[in-house]
Amino acid sequence: MNLILLGLPGAGKGTQAKKISQEYKLTHIATGDIFRRLIKDRTPLGLRAEKYIKEGRLVPDEDAVRILRDELSKLDIKSRFVLDGFPRTLNQARILTEILEGMDIKPDLVFFIDVDPEELVERISERRVCLKCGSTYHLKHNPPQTDGICDFCGEKLIQRNDDREDTVRKRIQIHLKEIKEIVKYYKEKGLLEVVRGDTIEELYGAIKKAIEVKFS
Ligand code: ADP
Ligand code: AMP
Repeated sequence: MNLILLGLPGAGKGTQAKKISQEYKLTHIATGDIFRRLIKDRTPLGLRAEKYIKEGRLVPDEDAVRILRDELSKLDIKSRFVLDGFPRTLNQARILTEILEGMDIKPDLVFFIDVDPEELVERISERRVCLKCGSTYHLKHNPPQTDGICDFCGEKLIQRNDDREDTVRKRIQIHLKEIKEIVKYYKEKGLLEVVRGDTIEELYGAIKKAIEVKFS
């Protein structure tokens, strides 16, 4: 099973991808997490990406595709994945189709997590993340067991520097335009599942149901 998660920033892709990857034993590939790791390690690609990310813009397709190719090439041939944060442009979606065809892989489902953009600013401003394992928390809806500490790996939680309100609004505007085209692309391929849910568990229930229907 190979899955792709689409959604505006803060829609819940990372939160759901983590749950799905644990339950279905899939590799979670999150391009945003990879960029943050490369920035932390001060690699040339990380340094190139840093200014775009800080400003809330998309990293140019060329570098985003590069890290995705690299990540997919590390996968064991039998391992399956859930993709979170890629594709983010129609061009990336088309390139992804080509890359996967070259690996003889077809995505089984593409989820679009549909959330009212108005809700996203509040969600993102209360988000805290673990840079070590990629876990995501919300101070109210999904707090860690111990204040400021990751439940999974014990690392200190941080607020991302692109999660400031002005940057968040800019990110949402940029993504609104791109995501419409990507959603249309996968709809035409017959792969799209639109999912909604007021809570993390409700949304996860909708995703699981779609997976069960597909594989029953
Ligand atoms: P994305 O990966 O799409 O940017 P995240 O998974 O990081 O989004 O979620 C953004 C924030 O919203 C996090 O703080 C997360 O804990 C919280 N969150 C995720 N899903 C929900 C939900 N269904 N209801 C309320 N808060 C949520
Ligand atoms: P995320 O953690 O998914 O919210 O991603 C954080 C930031 O990384 C985004 O705002 C983009 O600047 C950059 N990024 C992540 N994935 C991609 C991608 N597929 N294409 C372009 N930029 C990306």
